[in-house]
Amino acid sequence: MVIIMQAGASEAEVDSVLAQVERAGFRPFINPGVERKVIALLGAMDAEKAELVDHFSALPGVERVTLISEPYKLASRRSHPESSLVTVGPVTIGGAQLAVIAGPCSVESRDQMIETAFAVRSAGANLLRGGAFKPRTSPYSFQGLGVEGLEILAEARRLTGLPIVTEVMHPGDLEAVVRYADIIQIGARNMQNFRLLQDVGMTGKPVILKRNPGCRIRDLLMASEYIMLEGNLNVVLCERGITTFEDATRYTMDVNAIPVIKRFSHLPVVADPSHAAGDWRYVTSIALSAIAAGADGIMIEVHPEPSSALSDGPQSLRPDKFVELMRAAAQVAAAVGRTVPAPE
Ligand code: PEP
Ligand code: MN
Repeated sequence: MVIIMQAGASEAEVDSVLAQVERAGFRPFINPGVERKVIALLGAMDAEKAELVDHFSALPGVERVTLISEPYKLASRRSHPESSLVTVGPVTIGGAQLAVIAGPCSVESRDQMIETAFAVRSAGANLLRGGAFKPRTSPYSFQGLGVEGLEILAEARRLTGLPIVTEVMHPGDLEAVVRYADIIQIGARNMQNFRLLQDVGMTGKPVILKRNPGCRIRDLLMASEYIMLEGNLNVVLCERGITTFEDATRYTMDVNAIPVIKRFSHLPVVADPSHAAGDWRYVTSIALSAIAAGADGIMIEVHPEPSSALSDGPQSLRPDKFVELMRAAAQVAAAVGRTVPAPE
């Protein structure tokens, strides 16, 4: 159940509704909307609902009370009709300007990371990615530099001013990752690691939650609920390709998911065509399709020398190809009323 306050409701009216919600035995959960506050009541029993709707509808400052039928209450657009914005330093994700997250799959060395950071910044990227803890299919593959990788990322941020996005794989590494990251990435393989989701929720740091390739859109939204329920509303969802019978590409970008998520949820959605394609040749086309479909941003793997990359080289763009992608992205973004950050 959500209580939607009037646009001009006073703080006293909001406080009084909160007090009554608590008195009725529920935990109120406020979504601080830009225009109007929305108060979600979690866990109301069916039998009590009709009576509670009448009770709360009559309180001063309340515009309307609605029942949320989706199982994901906090992520649902019904609980927060306006699209959410997630702010990371100078960057806002979910507004008219697209978020462009770019960088290597893995942090491999100081030189590789810093060179890539400057290259993507000059092409217009406004967020820098790089994995320090890598979820690899094989335990024999490069696992990431760990804390040393985080330190390199922090240096890249200091030199370029770009906020950093990096993955956490295990609750035991969270403290270290939180110390360095501006946005914590939860990778596709961990989308349903519920304990990790809860721990990341408790940090309050912005999160990018990637969709598991075998999970439905509603599973992704339920996973985001775990983070939000801990009080962290700064969640960005990421479509990164799903498993289908097609094997010409690594995964299949579910472009459908973008407008579907936008319909059912207020959370920003970004698209990762690099992992969806698994091949640099398709990355630009798929990125453009995601922008056209309404994505709030793109995440692109870029490497100065993809053939020597320690992970995901075949899908990584060279910096010159990333420049071309950004030029095309500006045109497609303009066609759908969006912009991309300007190149230097
Ligand atoms: C990554 O971003 O490098 C990554 C491992 O992505 P995913 O979790 O989507 O496979
Ligand atoms: Mn990767």
